Amino acid sequence: MAVSKTHPTERIRAAYAGGIRVFGENRVQEFSGKADSLLDLVEAEWHMIGHLQSNKAAKAAELFAAVDSLDSVKLADRLNAAAEQENKKIPVLIEMNVGGEESKSGVPPETRDLEDLLQSVPRFAALEFRGLMTVPPFSDDAQGARPYFRRLRELRDSIARRKLPGISMEVLSMGMSHDFEVAVEEGSTCVRVGTAIFGERPKP
Ligand SMILES: *Cc1c(COP(=O)(O)O)cnc(C)c1O
Repeated sequence: MAVSKTHPTERIRAAYAGGIRVFGENRVQEFSGKADSLLDLVEAEWHMIGHLQSNKAAKAAELFAAVDSLDSVKLADRLNAAAEQENKKIPVLIEMNVGGEESKSGVPPETRDLEDLLQSVPRFAALEFRGLMTVPPFSDDAQGARPYFRRLRELRDSIARRKLPGISMEVLSMGMSHDFEVAVEEGSTCVRVGTAIFGERPKP
């Protein structure tokens, strides 16, 4: 996945021309400003990968093909309602906060929150639960992320073994520009690469 957040549509077009079809954006507001001028990229698949506030769920359901950062029952409720309205099914990944960092979104693994979300899945008929996503704590050394990637994979495996209704666990979204090789070694099926494709992001 090419993470195109902050980059202008010309750069996205260049990536598309180069063969990229799956893109990640992290803000509803920003992407809604770009989406209209990218409608002709008919094969592009836009994923929401940033923190999504429940009050923006409806807009996200309209704009994105998938939400890879689902992190609460409340958001799932809103997204499910919006997907039903739009008459579509939205693939989602559960974002896990594997490092338990205060500053990060995602479900902390050591709480009841994950279990609550998993148990609620049968009521979200318009969402397709496909796997897990994480952004590990930052470390300069890519190897520092390995234990977190491994943890996400083990979590995925343990959920998959339970064969819960409505939940498939084939996607493991982990790894960014500086650590994607390690993520792939640990079983990633989707790396989210921004800087290594588009260059440094403009400073806000
Ligand atoms: C920005 C971002 C990325 C890409 O980061 P790079 O280091 O530029 O590759 C990946 N995942 C998420 C959730 C992001 O917000």
